[in-house]
Amino acid sequence: MSTEKPPLPAPRLGEPYLLTPGPLTTAYEVKQAMLRDWGSWDDDFRAMTRELRSRLLALVGTGADANDCVPIQGSGSYCVEAMLGSFVPKDGKVLVLANGAYGLRAAQTMEYLGRAFTLINKGDYLPPRGAEVAQALADDPAITHVLAIHCETSSGILNPVEEIAEATRAAGRKLLIDSMSAFGAVELDAGKLGYTAMVSSANKCIEGVPGFGFVIARKDEIEAARGNSHSLSLDVHAQWATMEKTGQWRFTPPTHVVAAFIEALKAHEAEGGVEGRGARYTENRDVMVAGMRGLGFETLLADRWLSPIIVTFFCPADPKFEFARFYELMKAQGFIIYPGKLTVVDSFRVGCIGQMDAHVMRKVVEAARAALKDMGVESAAPPAEALEERKKLAA
Ligand SMILES: *Cc1c(COP(=O)(O)O)cnc(C)c1O
Repeated sequence: MSTEKPPLPAPRLGEPYLLTPGPLTTAYEVKQAMLRDWGSWDDDFRAMTRELRSRLLALVGTGADANDCVPIQGSGSYCVEAMLGSFVPKDGKVLVLANGAYGLRAAQTMEYLGRAFTLINKGDYLPPRGAEVAQALADDPAITHVLAIHCETSSGILNPVEEIAEATRAAGRKLLIDSMSAFGAVELDAGKLGYTAMVSSANKCIEGVPGFGFVIARKDEIEAARGNSHSLSLDVHAQWATMEKTGQWRFTPPTHVVAAFIEALKAHEAEGGVEGRGARYTENRDVMVAGMRGLGFETLLADRWLSPIIVTFFCPADPKFEFARFYELMKAQGFIIYPGKLTVVDSFRVGCIGQMDAHVMRKVVEAARAALKDMGVESAAPPAEALEERKKLAA
């Protein structure tokens, strides 16, 4: 065991911890940065935009020089839509890799765009593997791009992006990545993976507040994206061209959110960047999962697929367990958890990201213990069909 770090400060406004994958619990300093107003055209704000772009770019490791960062107003889905609409030409075709809600949302976005796509749908959580991507690309020469979800937040699985990147590169196609819930805590090296573009947003692992997302893409691809977009406000090339020329966002920027985000980026750097942030989240997950298993809960995923972002647990088989009640009892103790998204068996999720550490995660486990006791649930063991479900991935 490493030496115990001093606990992170608890939320100063007395609000509950958000054990949810964004919005999440932010530092007081991040909230405090929003207490003043900024003129969107003013030099001070332009400097903030510059700083935000260069700090984000520095997080993609090797290949940062060949890339650029383009922030886009809106939530993460706006950025996914901006990326698909801008980098996939009107006559392009996307192979969408889905194993949960966010992959399916990307497919739905393609439908709205009216551009060609094909879907590999692995169901609730099974990961798309390199070999099947290679096969799909060999079978369909019309496919120009592959869209992968880095951490599929609906189950918490960390998808094998290296394998997918390798298969995509070998077939001479281009890779687009939704790294919304992983970027900033899990390495996503632009040079090594060779992706065309990736997206993430302000309110996930960088620990900012919601209001914008960002695209990091190869500069040559951004330039080539001119004229592709179906949408004025979601045109990555146009946003980039304006920012390069004037230092400004094209339309009203979320000024306060940007100010908060810069504070969050400084804290991210002080914590040791992607590695330091990833280490804290990993410890959060390990402490929480070990504690929950100690109560009898079982995770959907085997250890090798667990992300340090969010974990899915099966609901206990005991008929006295009722998720709505469990949620309220957890909330009363200061912890907001998340319902699950599995279609086959009941589940719930606990997030590991945000301003929380191992000290907090131990309290989460204690709160779960107390909640079970309150409900009269003796064992948190899941029903037999849940364990059957789990075997699908154990191999
Ligand atoms: C959060 C998230 C998104 C974006 O969701 P919004 O609600 O639009 O912010 C997209 N993909 C993944 C994997 C996510 O976790």
